[in-house]
Amino acid sequence: SDTATREEQRHLPADLPEHIQHYIDGELVDSVDGGTFEVLDPVSNETYLRAAAGKKADIDLAVAAARRAFTDGPWPWMLPRERSRVLHRIADLVESQDARLAELESFDSGLPITQALGQARRAAENFRFFADLVVAQADDTYKVPGRQINYVNRKPIGVAGLITPWNTPFMLESWKLGPALATGNTVVLKPAEFTPLSASLWAGIFEEAGLPQGVFNLVNGLGEEAGDALVKHPDVPLISFTGESRTGELIFANAAPYLKGLSMELGGKSPAVVFADADLEAAINATVFGVFSLNGERCTAGSRILVQREVYDEFVERYAAQAERVVVGYPHDERTEVGALVHPEHFDKVMSYVEIGRTEGRLVAGGGRPEGFETGNFVAPTVFADVPPDARIFQEEIFGPVVAITPFDTEEEALELANGVRYGLAAYIWTNDLRRAHTFAQSVEAGMVWLNSNNVRDLRTPFGGVKASGLGHEGGYRSIDFYTDQQAVHITL
Ligand code: NAD
Repeated sequence: SDTATREEQRHLPADLPEHIQHYIDGELVDSVDGGTFEVLDPVSNETYLRAAAGKKADIDLAVAAARRAFTDGPWPWMLPRERSRVLHRIADLVESQDARLAELESFDSGLPITQALGQARRAAENFRFFADLVVAQADDTYKVPGRQINYVNRKPIGVAGLITPWNTPFMLESWKLGPALATGNTVVLKPAEFTPLSASLWAGIFEEAGLPQGVFNLVNGLGEEAGDALVKHPDVPLISFTGESRTGELIFANAAPYLKGLSMELGGKSPAVVFADADLEAAINATVFGVFSLNGERCTAGSRILVQREVYDEFVERYAAQAERVVVGYPHDERTEVGALVHPEHFDKVMSYVEIGRTEGRLVAGGGRPEGFETGNFVAPTVFADVPPDARIFQEEIFGPVVAITPFDTEEEALELANGVRYGLAAYIWTNDLRRAHTFAQSVEAGMVWLNSNNVRDLRTPFGGVKASGLGHEGGYRSIDFYTDQQAVHITL
């Protein structure tokens, strides 16, 4: 890489657009006021395209189109099987262009290309999963003998507002689009402004799959403008949001006067707890992957590792050595394990935490820009040991390749440390004691727990966090519940 030219390092994909528009009522359009914003790639930090900057007027048009498609149909009234067929075609189309999707996503977000490819495939799987789920959906019926029969009439709600972050953007969009569309809603998607590139492929995919006009609408733009207008639009009865906790708080307040349905997937500072009786090799491999994959820009990252004193020194030494071996590289290079952080603003934030960490803990790996990467948003996998629980790098979400390791003596102390932050998204527990594994899982404040396990998800399980990590659960039938009203119908016998 030392001899690579700047353009080789940047690896421009073929046929990059220079301008990205909104997609409203089946048409690609610019903003009503003609406004645009700049989009950078994270290796050169140069502007490579301008995207239409949506504001209230654009959101109004998109919501009106989605509302027409909902009230005039046919999408909400179609048989689940018919909608399911469209969703499977969407999955086929995503799969058939997974390499292109990965190339664009990796270029725009800085994710390693091999991991971006995995995320593209997960996006296809999300559509398949919800396509299957809606045809298998059974709703409750109750009988009071001789008096009444009651049944549940499940109905799509209307225009769903979907607001998504820049980490694994295409996959997270699919996680909302799949169930919202499968259940018969129409949507307005506001993707993250750092990474609008992969989202610009949705319109073509949906058209080719036969999704009726107006069912899917996309407005690009800043959160404070386009996102805010979507949250405050009276004809959008539900908002599914994934992003930072403080943005979630703001959206919660802004949606309150409209009493909207809200699903909030927010930040995390998830603990990985390693007991002395654990399979140390497996725990090290999984906890290295757990915080450094996806550049550490992962909501469920195990960014705090709590290690029992008996194995603490050995763990820290082996962990640091393994972190040093993680391959930092250009996002398009297949050998790369950690690429470039999404944006210079985010890079500065992560680097400021690395500096803070030097005063709060003992640096044992990384510590800033890796050698050979003088420009671009590259951060070496960074490990701090002996981090006290009141440290900022223990308490605050960094969302980059930075991990804090803290020792503990007893199970009670481990639990107190694990629960001693405002977040509660995921927890990872490593022990060979079955009783301890399950009692710890019961007491840990986390929406999702993995026992002796990598972060692998079954799409039927609930996904969501507790405390500042979110409100509500998606995943499996819970997503169906969020995107539908369940009307109770009572019949006298
Ligand atoms: P962010 O909150 O800055 O932005 C997320 C989205 O919200 C963007 O599309 C943004 O434009 C929009 N937005 C910003 N302000 C808004 C406002 N006032 N009104 C309406 N919309 C607004 O988050 P980010 O930096 O893009 O993403 C990283 C965060 O997302 C991290 O905290 C991470 O943990 C979290 N995340 C959570 C999950 C989960 O499932 N729990 C998954 C991925 C990421």
